[in-house]
Amino acid sequence: MKKWILFSLLFLSALALAACGSSQEDDSSSEGENEEAQKNEDAGEINLYTGRHYDTDQELYDQFTEETGIKVNVIEGKDDELIARMKREGKASEADLLITADAGRLHRAKTDDLLQPVESEVLNKNVPEKLRDEENEWFGLTKRARVIVYNKDTVNPDDIKTYDDLTKDEWQDKVLIRSSENIYNQSLLASMISLEGEEKAKEWAQGIVDNMARDPQGGDRDQAKGIAAGEGDVAVMNTYYLGQMLHSEDESEVEVAKNLGVIFPNQDTTGTHINISGVGLASSSKNTEEAQKFMEFLSKEEAQGKFAEANYEYPVNENVEASETLKEWGEFKEQDLNLGELGENNSKAIQIMNEVGWK
Ligand code: FE
Repeated sequence: MKKWILFSLLFLSALALAACGSSQEDDSSSEGENEEAQKNEDAGEINLYTGRHYDTDQELYDQFTEETGIKVNVIEGKDDELIARMKREGKASEADLLITADAGRLHRAKTDDLLQPVESEVLNKNVPEKLRDEENEWFGLTKRARVIVYNKDTVNPDDIKTYDDLTKDEWQDKVLIRSSENIYNQSLLASMISLEGEEKAKEWAQGIVDNMARDPQGGDRDQAKGIAAGEGDVAVMNTYYLGQMLHSEDESEVEVAKNLGVIFPNQDTTGTHINISGVGLASSSKNTEEAQKFMEFLSKEEAQGKFAEANYEYPVNENVEASETLKEWGEFKEQDLNLGELGENNSKAIQIMNEVGWK
């Protein structure tokens, strides 16, 4: 980490020196680059709309620029806001690439005609088939699992093997899970619709509502904190939130996380639910070649570990190992389904959640 910063600083100083020694015609190019996408005069730039916001991501983008000369203008926002913005901007949009933190949203962008296909042997080799769109309109970059965590003091992990187990009577008033408005739970239910059918999925959702420790509130981290506060014994959360808490600067978060055990559900059946953050080429892109290079760069072995580790996620590239924190939790069997189905079943999932009264 420190080496990176030092290296970047050295590189920037070298650039500054070089700039001083040459003509000053480029002076205006750095102004406001993070606020708005700018017109690309030399086609050596790409505009990245991203729902990710980690410092180490920026280091990778800088490395890409260093290797290729292609500048990366980063426009950050929430996934849904970025998609809405692209819709609003239409064909005139400066967006070249969209990165979101959920396959369901990438699917939404695709069905809204905001993405276009990319034919790339590199991407097809580096990104497993189930983690990319069937028509090559988006590709997974990092992977996360939606797991069950439990209070180590009160729960015997042998009692919970599956997501279904959370609906048993013994967990009545003990299950902590966030609201149905959240895309991660929508995607989890969507995966069950695919793998077990609508009826089973609805039974599960009803069972979860019946066993909720409280009305859903807060994010995944708040469910973990709910366990520490004694409000419930088990919670559903994404793996990276647990990783973030374990490495948090807030000592109380570390304490909460340390007292949680991790269960990868459905290991003898359909596998643990996974989701991705991923990237798609914008249909409005005027820099498709450069954008494709960027997508390929992020899928390669060198970038993958760092990109995933930024948020305690798993690399999608199977040649790259997960970080130490994740390896400690062990390997696990994943759901076997193309993640495009999460998007396809999204509205059905929301409908079921409404029907069973999942707030
Ligand atoms: Fe998240």
